[in-house]
Amino acid sequence: MVSRVIPVGVFDLVIFGGTGDLARRKILPGLFRRYCSGQMPPDARVIGAARTEMSSENYREFVAKAVREFGVVGQGIDTDLEKFLARIEYVAIDACGVTGWNKLIKLVRSDVVRAYYFSVAPSLFGDLAQRLNIHGLTDEFSRIVVEKPFGRDLKTAKTLNTDLATYFNEGQIYRIDHYLGKETVQNLMAVRFGNMLFEPLWNSQYVDHIQITVAETVGVGDRGEYYDKSGAMRDMVQNHLMQLLCLIAMEPPSKFDPDAVRDEKLKVIRALDPMDPHQIIRGQYDGFGDGPSYRQAVRDAQSRTESYIAMKVGVSNWRWAGTPFYLRTGKRLKARSSEITVVFKELNHSIFGEQEDHHNVLSIRLQPNEGITLGVTIKEPGPGGMRLVDVPLDMTFAEALGEGSEEPPDAYERLIMDVIRGNQTLFMRGDEVEAAWAWTDPIIESWEARGDVPKIYESGSEGPEDAVQMMARDTRVWRKVSP
Ligand code: NAD
Repeated sequence: MVSRVIPVGVFDLVIFGGTGDLARRKILPGLFRRYCSGQMPPDARVIGAARTEMSSENYREFVAKAVREFGVVGQGIDTDLEKFLARIEYVAIDACGVTGWNKLIKLVRSDVVRAYYFSVAPSLFGDLAQRLNIHGLTDEFSRIVVEKPFGRDLKTAKTLNTDLATYFNEGQIYRIDHYLGKETVQNLMAVRFGNMLFEPLWNSQYVDHIQITVAETVGVGDRGEYYDKSGAMRDMVQNHLMQLLCLIAMEPPSKFDPDAVRDEKLKVIRALDPMDPHQIIRGQYDGFGDGPSYRQAVRDAQSRTESYIAMKVGVSNWRWAGTPFYLRTGKRLKARSSEITVVFKELNHSIFGEQEDHHNVLSIRLQPNEGITLGVTIKEPGPGGMRLVDVPLDMTFAEALGEGSEEPPDAYERLIMDVIRGNQTLFMRGDEVEAAWAWTDPIIESWEARGDVPKIYESGSEGPEDAVQMMARDTRVWRKVSP
């Protein structure tokens, strides 16, 4: 199958923080893959900019190593890599000082799309924006990409928005949430709005409840210092899970364009019921198994930060009133699995007499094995009367699209190309981020005010027992966390 690739114009992409972890694992390998699939015009260039002193030659070696380690590409990598490296330059720069800026001014061209990826600590975003402006490195066609976390509460997010708005208009600011770049997440919109089948049923009359799970097997690793000041609510719920909830719950936008989609997402966030913080399950993993406990990992024996959250969220609007959204996310869980599940209601009446409960279930898997499965009820084959059984209608993309279909691009590479094309549909708008903080702030403040202590859960389990109980009270069960 030949995929249709939308051409990209000539660009200079400057990666501030070009020697950092994110650049090494995601941005640079992603750019190389886009180069291999012919999406980088011959004159496009990538400029790494970071604090470390090194030559462009040494940086090319750094890039080559990153691509080999994280690039996962096919045969002929050496020839392609050499050509790709020919487009790479490096500038040693100080985001909040004077070093390196004159060299950058000489390197960056003014007659191409100029994109600046802020892959540095958020505390540097304002300085970078200001210096780009002072040094005349931007015009109305330039764009900036900013990484998470976008603030740590409403106040800091507002300050950040104001700082960036001093130098860039909203149409130039790309707030990245890589969950939105995932193939399945976009497919969720295709399934909802490209089929007659689902949308008429997509409401509280037919949907019993929705589950959104983002489960990780890894712990906080070496991000302990950052994570302990953040926790699952700030690190995952306020952004990633909130964005998934928005896409599931939003009204059909009039067209697939940035503001139409983001207007609808914003309405969902504003329709979220305020939460009772006591009703939210917070957990922290213990040291069972092969790794350190959360408290050992963050080196604070008293830490009250949560590595797990489970919550029942209501969306008070005409479409969803009465249908709960159950969200959960955590670290050091049994399996790495991200999934959105729409559980439809039982039939009003069964013509087959006494049967077990049967629900249609639409499950959208984000990772691993991206794909969509629809559970339908059929007759169990064979003699013995009309016994019903649930079977999956599987739409695993690789299988459905047949041999030769391309591996879907990683979320980062897709989003970077969207930046170059100037398409903001899959990026968060400033007001969305603020609305999400406005909803999460009172919850976090309440926990902090009363010194809420998270429940300890066993590493490698499905999370705290209280989360199971939360569902049981509603006579529902969580989907199994399985790979
Ligand atoms: P990192 O600490 O590995 O790298 C930081 C980079 O910033 C380095 O290249 C460093 O040289 C550069 N830098 C630091 N101070 C500078 C200065 N004054 N001037 C110029 N450059 C400077 O960080 P990272 O993990 O790559 O994360 C970068 C950003 O991406 C952060 O905002 C982080 O929150 C975000 N992020 C990272 C990940 C990830 O997986 N690493 C995931 C999501 C978001």
